[in-house]
Amino acid sequence: MATEEQKRLYRHNWFTKNRESLYENRRKNMRKWRLRLLDILGGKKCVSCGYDKDFRALNFDHLRDDGRKDRKIHYNSYGFYRFYSENPEIAKSNLQVLCSNCNTIKKYDNMNYLLNQSNDIDKMV
Ligand SMILES: [Zn+2]
Repeated sequence: MATEEQKRLYRHNWFTKNRESLYENRRKNMRKWRLRLLDILGGKKCVSCGYDKDFRALNFDHLRDDGRKDRKIHYNSYGFYRFYSENPEIAKSNLQVLCSNCNTIKKYDNMNYLLNQSNDIDKMV
C-alpha cells in the first residue's frame, strides 16, 4: 500500500514526464474548440464590418456585455471555448464574432454610454 507521500511523488513524476504532451494536447484542443465556436457563430468573419483576413484577430463578444461574469464561471479560455463549443445554442444566444477593432469600439461606446448616464445623474442632483 503506497503512502500519501509516495502517491504525491508518483503524480509529480508522471506530470513532469508528460508535461509537454499535456500542454500540446491542450493547445490543439483550444484551437479545435475555438474554430468550432467560430463555425457555430457563423464563420471566421466579423459580424459588424465583415473582416475575415485572419481569424486570430477575431474575438467572441458577449451580446449582453456580461463577459466579466462569464470569465469567472469558466475560469479560463480553455473552459470557455469548451463549454460554448459543446453548447452551441447557448453560444448563439450569448456570443457574436467581432474583430478586434469592432470589439474595442463597442467597449468604448459602452463606456461613453455609462459616462453619459452618470453625467445625467449629476445634472439631476
Ligand atoms: Zn469588425
